[in-house]
Amino acid sequence: MGNRESAYHGIRARIEAASADRPGDSGEVTLVAVSKRQPAEAIRALDELGQQDFGENYLQEAIDKQPELADLSLTWHFIGPIQSNKTRAIAAHFDWVHSVDRAKIARRLGEQRDPVMGPLNVLIQVNVDGEASKSGADPADVPDIVSACAEYPTLCLRGLMCIPRPGNTAAFAQLAALNASLAEPLPDLSMGMSGDFEAAIAEGATVVRVGTALFGPRDS
Ligand SMILES: *Cc1c(COP(=O)(O)O)cnc(C)c1O
Repeated sequence: MGNRESAYHGIRARIEAASADRPGDSGEVTLVAVSKRQPAEAIRALDELGQQDFGENYLQEAIDKQPELADLSLTWHFIGPIQSNKTRAIAAHFDWVHSVDRAKIARRLGEQRDPVMGPLNVLIQVNVDGEASKSGADPADVPDIVSACAEYPTLCLRGLMCIPRPGNTAAFAQLAALNASLAEPLPDLSMGMSGDFEAAIAEGATVVRVGTALFGPRDS
């Protein structure tokens, strides 16, 4: 097995082991391979190993790579910060968006998503760290963003997402608790990256976003 192949199977095995360890029948964990700063060939190589879901942070970079991979049936996740002038392109080029952090962004995506494409899957990014990180909605604002998503049949609200600072694994339980406190808890929690995805799965992650551990270090 090549390096990439053994890294891929190693991550898959660790996800499976972490999922098996948690109580109850919590269902499958989706692995989003974070392919930012990786060339299209690296994505194609993982597709050949059976990987379906890919995550990108930078809109233009993703739009540049996607045509090279148009022969594959991949599921694209936008996981980067969203400027409001970029929502139309995000709605056109992605299947999932993990980083909706205000109602205005939800409404723009809802208006701009072409119904022919089917609903855009949405996760609300929450700032569970408080002041430690600047991106993500204040937990108190989540119900308003939930309501904004519900106005649009072109959006399918799936859950919550967080990017805590490294080492703050307590944030995973906080995100799960916030979800449980909603009037209608959502099915998905996108949390956990290369360094902490097992801790996130233990707290109920249904989606993990792994880059470095799959692809190796990014050039800048
Ligand atoms: C880069 C990134 C990841 C992956 O991080 P790694 O530490 O390389 O696994 C996950 N989520 C988001 C939002 C990212 O920007």
